[in-house]
Amino acid sequence: GGDGVPASAGTATGASAGTATDLMVRAEQVHKSFGSVEVLKGIDLEVRSGEVCCLLGPSGSGKSTFLRCINHLEKINAGRIWVDGELIGYRERGGKLHEMREKEVAAQRQAIGMVFQRFNLFPHMTVLENVVEAPVLLGREKKAAARERAAALLDRVGLSDKLGNYPGQLSGGQQQRVAIARALAMRPKLMLFDEPTSALDPELVGEVLDVMKDLARDGMTMIVVTHEIGFAREVGDSLVFMDGGVVVESGPPREVLANPRHSRTRDFLARVL
Ligand code: ADP
Ligand code: MG
Repeated sequence: GGDGVPASAGTATGASAGTATDLMVRAEQVHKSFGSVEVLKGIDLEVRSGEVCCLLGPSGSGKSTFLRCINHLEKINAGRIWVDGELIGYRERGGKLHEMREKEVAAQRQAIGMVFQRFNLFPHMTVLENVVEAPVLLGREKKAAARERAAALLDRVGLSDKLGNYPGQLSGGQQQRVAIARALAMRPKLMLFDEPTSALDPELVGEVLDVMKDLARDGMTMIVVTHEIGFAREVGDSLVFMDGGVVVESGPPREVLANPRHSRTRDFLARVL
């Protein structure tokens, strides 16, 4: 700007450039304990609509727990999480938080797709049936429309020739691509990936990352727990490094990777790079 003031500098009113409405995920001081062990110690995180946030950190740092908190598979002990402006798991009335009924939680969860390290496909169903199942069961779509859409999604993940196969007949990479198509069948506004390529043989990692890259390019908002540094650098809009239940540092992936400010980040990167 002509006045030489950086655009990011705070104004007197404290207004920032980003508005709350373009945030798909907002976590504020999320705490989670198992018994007396505090696993998440006040996580703050924001992901804008259409952005890919890569979550890195050593084993046991709380990454999976945090993802599970986002769709209320784990109940948080303190803090708040909003997805697309909606408070997850609670309603606020008169300044107090009231826990939602299971049915309401289920509805929120349906808008959030999750892909795990293990694919968890139904072994007795064909690839197509696996993708058709949830939207039909939950009354989202009629069977014929769901089949058509499932076929299109499977085509998108490169599996149009496997519709009639059973999961056991597929490679790990193919199964994980089915799992992604299955999650997409619910038309999620947010996708959570928990180490989606960690269980795969190295030669199968690329085909899954390519599908995720394609999704990202298409504008899907994603949080991806991964040790794939190349993916984080190339596809990530932000990189968040967690350790010991806290966010140690975060920023644009290229900056954090090239210039980690904390020794814990540096040590971790030295081990995985
Ligand atoms: P990460 O995904 O980063 O490896 P996790 O979120 O899986 O980390 O785990 C963080 C910590 O929480 C670990 O010490 C783990 O043992 C503990 N933990 C996770 N889930 C449970 C649970 N259901 N009960 C007790 N401890 C748990
Ligand atoms: Mg984990």
